[in-house]
Amino acid sequence: MNYSKFAALLNDLENSSKRIEKTARISHFLRKEPADIAEIILLMLGRVYPVWHEQKMGVSTSTMIKAMSSSYGKSVNTIVALATKQGDLGLTAQSLAKTKTQSTLFDEKLSIKKVFDTLKKIPCLEGKGTVNSKTKLIASLLAHADPIESKYLVRIVLEDLRIGVGIGVIRDAIAWAFLPKVIGIVEDSTDLENKSDPKSGSDNSNKSDNDAKPSHDKRPDSDSEATVFDDFDENNPDHIQKVAESKVITSYEDSISRKIYNHIIDTVRSAFDKTNDLSKVAVIASSKGLNGLLDLNIEIFKPINVMLYPKTGSLEDGFKTVGTPAAIEYKYDGFRMQIHKNNDEIQLYTRRLENVTSQFPEIVGYVKKYIKAKTAILDSEIVGIDHDTNKTLPFQKISMRIRRKYNIRELVETVPVMCNVFDLLFIDGEELITKPFRYRREKIISMISENVYIRPAKQLITEDMNEANLFYQESLNLGNEGIMMKSLNGPYKPGSRVGYGVKIKPVMDALDLVITGAEWGEGKRAGWLTSFHLSCIDDDGNLMSIGKVGTGIKELEGDEVSFNHLTELLRPLIINEKGKIVQLKPQIVIEVLYEEIQKSESYNSGYALRFPRFVRIREDKPVSECSTITIIDNLYTEQRQRNL
Ligand code: AMP
Repeated sequence: MNYSKFAALLNDLENSSKRIEKTARISHFLRKEPADIAEIILLMLGRVYPVWHEQKMGVSTSTMIKAMSSSYGKSVNTIVALATKQGDLGLTAQSLAKTKTQSTLFDEKLSIKKVFDTLKKIPCLEGKGTVNSKTKLIASLLAHADPIESKYLVRIVLEDLRIGVGIGVIRDAIAWAFLPKVIGIVEDSTDLENKSDPKSGSDNSNKSDNDAKPSHDKRPDSDSEATVFDDFDENNPDHIQKVAESKVITSYEDSISRKIYNHIIDTVRSAFDKTNDLSKVAVIASSKGLNGLLDLNIEIFKPINVMLYPKTGSLEDGFKTVGTPAAIEYKYDGFRMQIHKNNDEIQLYTRRLENVTSQFPEIVGYVKKYIKAKTAILDSEIVGIDHDTNKTLPFQKISMRIRRKYNIRELVETVPVMCNVFDLLFIDGEELITKPFRYRREKIISMISENVYIRPAKQLITEDMNEANLFYQESLNLGNEGIMMKSLNGPYKPGSRVGYGVKIKPVMDALDLVITGAEWGEGKRAGWLTSFHLSCIDDDGNLMSIGKVGTGIKELEGDEVSFNHLTELLRPLIINEKGKIVQLKPQIVIEVLYEEIQKSESYNSGYALRFPRFVRIREDKPVSECSTITIIDNLYTEQRQRNL
């Protein structure tokens, strides 16, 4: 397929403001252009490999500027000046491509395959001359790209597409495109060709995933045999699955159709949560339909989206949510690690699905030595440990171990860690995620030989409030963050905050926010970024600004995070600079405390934080797990109620 068609789609997506319209555009495209589905999906996410793959694009803004300079025959300074004015290297490429002679353009039309295959070579380049080779590869594509193609080529390579399409939209688009039950609706509901002004109308990008469904099917219900649902048994998931496979839904107005629609969307979601690869999900949906997606299994060495736990305010609420008796565990103050084992091969992944195997050789050793299973996928919390006192250390003391790529052996000695296993997803050929927690826990206990380095999380099963309270206090006294309460019958739901488990911790709710921009300091702080622009996310993962923070960061280097440290961390993420203000790739998540959440028109979340204070860098959290606007809405409401 021609890359130009894909670039035109990206342009349309950028110009559409409504979620439903974006979803429909992508689904039409996927259906009309069934070739190269996997490549299209990955490129739309600004990637060439799935998120968990070791290979990352890793092209810096300065390498891109060099490539543009060589392709357009302009000096680096000219390009930087233009980019500063336009605020986006993609736009700069678009305008420079307009001035290019037409001759090269028509020698060779770029195909999706050509673009994808060329970009795929970039992450494999290593060693001396890498920057030059990367520059050449990018320039070779830009040479044949027209203005719109160039804009998106540059943005894809910089992994910053700016089309307002998150994973949720693509996931729904896959369902609309390939799962026949939804097709009829989409065709009627979104008249893309006759959109008068795509920017008009309300933006519903804030709505939850299931709100993305087309709302106005125009065909009468009686038109189709598909809307007759005899003996619909809404409590029987197998029955819903059968109906979803065999009938076409033509209306969302009735509750049965909604149920079926939700089942279809949930099936795509769960296929994604198991594989973490939307390109694979799209290929299976298009070739094997709903049943094919249901057959997808978790696989060793492909990390799974972890299950999340909502917060609850009290033990009473905890018991209400998870049932009695409940499994109560220490909530360790460390970072989450997903451990994959296949005989002697061990791979370790963070909650952001980054591969950190080489950073934790001792954990690899413990797993080899003490985990009896041949194959297994474990969910665990790594904590720092003082071997002299046998006490755990706070997270801040060990956070550097996640990023550090050198002197690992020395760090293993000076910053030792141990592993608390709290869940098990797979063991010796048996997938456990649908099995009750009680069963998974039994397997954890029998799988680990007695030792002090890798242990089952400390657990108490009780329905007694006093016992639970004592356990909670014991956990806090040992320096843990609080407790987890888990349903003994609950499955492991990858990627969801479902209420099969909740967390309880006493501290005021800190927010996890992503840094999207910053400001250079003045005077003695010149040369450092000193004020950091923060965003939360909406339910689709879109960023929403919520304020700035500059307090809580140290001027001097030491144990705590300093301005210099943050500046060095953020420097490679600078996308654009205007005066004192830099725009950053949203990648670094930090924990922020505050006195109060206030309504504000200055930020597009609608909120601002009063007296925000930096607490720590959340090395372990991906942007997709930042505090959501829904959480902030709730905190704001709670705060108002407290103040009444
Ligand atoms: P939070 O980071 O506040 O969202 O709390 C959830 C996190 O607590 C999980 O992602 C784990 O990293 C961590 N955790 C610590 N102990 C446990 C445990 N026993 N069970 C589950 N998660 C735990």
